[in-house]
Amino acid sequence: MNRRKVLVASLVIGAMGCLPLAHAADKGYVGISMPTKSSARWIADGANMVKYFNEKGYKTDLQYAEDDIPNQLAQIENLVTKGVKVLVIASIDGTTLSDVLKKAADKGVKVIAYDRLIKGSKNVDYYATFDNFQVGVIQAESIVNALGLKNGKGPFNIELFGGSPDDNNAFFFYDGAMSVLKPYMDKGKLVVRSKQMGMDKVGTLRWDGAVAQARMDNLLSAFYGKDRVDAVLSPYDGLSIGILSSLKGVGYGSPKQPYPIVTGQDAEVPSVKSILRGEQYSTVFKDTRELAKVTVGMVDAMLSGKQPQVNDTKTYNNGVKIVPSYLLKPVPVDKTNWKKILVDSGYYTEDKLK
Ligand code: BGC
Repeated sequence: MNRRKVLVASLVIGAMGCLPLAHAADKGYVGISMPTKSSARWIADGANMVKYFNEKGYKTDLQYAEDDIPNQLAQIENLVTKGVKVLVIASIDGTTLSDVLKKAADKGVKVIAYDRLIKGSKNVDYYATFDNFQVGVIQAESIVNALGLKNGKGPFNIELFGGSPDDNNAFFFYDGAMSVLKPYMDKGKLVVRSKQMGMDKVGTLRWDGAVAQARMDNLLSAFYGKDRVDAVLSPYDGLSIGILSSLKGVGYGSPKQPYPIVTGQDAEVPSVKSILRGEQYSTVFKDTRELAKVTVGMVDAMLSGKQPQVNDTKTYNNGVKIVPSYLLKPVPVDKTNWKKILVDSGYYTEDKLK
C-alpha cells in the first residue's frame, strides 16, 4: 500500500471507530434514581441499567438516595437541571415526588417508575415492575407447601410481616400472600396468636431489618412463651435475616426446636446462604437483568417516537391515572431449585453462594 492509501485507510478506520461514539452521545442522557445501596438488589438494578443504556448508546447518571426522601428529591431535581431527557425512578416514598415531577414535565422530561409505582402524579409515563401480587402468592404458597396445609395438616401458628407502608408494592405483596393464607386462617388451620394483621399493624417502615427484628422479639416474648411459631411471612430477605436472628436469640434453630418456615424476597446472597444452611426456607427471585432490559427498551422506544411494549393496563392506578405497565414474572426459590434458578441462569456464580 502506498502512503496515500495507508492514510486514507487509517482515516476510514479512525472514522469508523469514532462514529458509534458520536452517535452514542447523541442518543440522550438518562437520569437513574435508586432508593438505597443498603440492599444488593438495587445495586444490581443500577449497574444493569447503566450497562444496557450504555450499550444502546445512552449516557447515564446513576444516583442513590440512601433511603432519605429529601435526598432523593434533591437528586432528581439536580438530574432535571443537568438536562436529562428521561428519569427512571425507584422511589423511596412513592407519594412524595409530585412537585419535582411537575418541574420535570415542564421541561419535557419523560418518567418511568421503576419497580415501585409513583403515586399521585400524572407525570409518570410508564411503569416497569414484576407481578407484585404474585410475589406474595409465591411466598404464601411456600408456607402452605412446607407445612403440608393442603394435606389437612395443622393448626399451625404464623406471624405476618409487611413491607414499608410508603411503598405501594408492600400492599400488593401482602394482599397476594393473604389471598392464599386467609382461607387457612378462616378454617383455623393457621393461627396468628398476636392477632396482628393488616398492613397498618404489620408494616415495616423503610424495609428495615432491625425494625423487623425488634418486632419479632416482642412477638416472641408476648405470645410464644410456651407455644411454638411455625411460620413467619416475611416479604423481603433483609427482614428475614432480622427475624431469624430474633428467633435464634430465643433458642430456635436446634434439632429440638427447628426454625419456623420463614419466607423472603430478592434472593440476596446472605439469604441464599441462609437457605443452604437450612435457616431461611425460601425467597423470591426477581431477575433485575430482565427489569433493566425492559426499562431500557421502554426508554429507547419513547425516545424514538415509538410505543413502548406493555402487558398490563389495568392494575396500577396511581390515584390520578392507570400507569401502563410491563410486569415480569417472579420465581420461587428454595433449597430444591436454587442452583437451576440462580446459578445456571448466570445470575450468581456458585462460589458466591457457598
Ligand atoms: C421491591 C422488593 C424489595 C423491597 C425492599 C420493594 O419495592 O419490589 O424487591 O425487596 O422493595 O427493597
